[in-house]
Amino acid sequence: MAAGPGRESAPLASAPGLEATALRHVFGQYPTGVAIAAARDAQGQVVAMTINSFSTLSLDPPLVAWSIGARSADLAAFCDAGRLGISLLSSAQEPQARRFADPLLRRAPASAALLDLDNGTPRLRDAVGWLCCRVERSLAVGDHVMLICQVERFAVQPGEALAYHRSRYTRIDGQRAWT
Ligand SMILES: Cc1cc2nc3c(=O)[nH]c(=O)nc-3n(C[C@H](O)[C@H](O)[C@H](O)COP(=O)(O)OP(=O)(O)OC[C@H]3O[C@@H](n4cnc5c(N)ncnc54)[C@H](O)[C@@H]3O)c2cc1C
Repeated sequence: MAAGPGRESAPLASAPGLEATALRHVFGQYPTGVAIAAARDAQGQVVAMTINSFSTLSLDPPLVAWSIGARSADLAAFCDAGRLGISLLSSAQEPQARRFADPLLRRAPASAALLDLDNGTPRLRDAVGWLCCRVERSLAVGDHVMLICQVERFAVQPGEALAYHRSRYTRIDGQRAWT
C-alpha cells in the first residue's frame, strides 16, 4: 500500500537466524484478550476479523492500536474505513472468535451477531466492551500495518473476558495469582 496522508512506512531490518515457529511459540507465552474489528468497506459491506493485537495506547487523547497483516485483502477496507468498531469478547464468545478468524465464514453475508451503531459502525452483540474508533494513522511495520485509532464512544457490559494463550482460547478465572 502506498504511503499517503496519515500513512507512514518504517523500514525495519530483518533478523536472520530467528526461527519463525520458535518465535510464534514465545509470542504465545503472552496471554491476550480477543477482539473483533469490524468496519464498512467502500461498497458498504461489513468486514470483520478476529484480532488479538489490540492494545491500549493513550488515555489523553484516547488512543488504541491493533495490527492487520499487510497482505490481507481487507487491509484497504480497514485503513480507509474512517471508523471501525472494536468489540472485546466475553468468555462465552469463542464461537464468534472462531467464526471471524475463518477466511470463508468471516466473509459470509451479514451475521446476526453484528449490529450497527447509529453512525453505521458495526459492532458485536453481547461483548464485554466495545469501542467506536476513528482511524487516525496507519503505520507499515514489518509484515503488518498498525492502525492507531482514536476512541470516540465506548460501552462496557458485565462478564468475563475471553483470552488467548498458547494458541488456545481460555477464560480468565479471576483467581489471584499471589495471596
Ligand atoms: C486469536 C486470533 C487472533 C488473531 N489476531 C489477528 C490480528 O491481530 N491481526 C490479523 O491481521 N489477523 C489476526 N488473526 C487472523 C485473522 O483473524 C484471520 O486469520 C483472518 O482470516 C486473516 O485475514 P486475512 O485477510 O489476512 O487473510 P484471509 O484472506 O482471511 O486468508 C487467510 C488464508 O485463507 C485463504 N483464503 C482466503 N479466502 C479464501 C477463499 N475464498 N477460499 C479459499 N481460501 C481462501 C488465503 O489464501 C489465506 O491463506 C487472528 C486469529 C486468531 C485466531
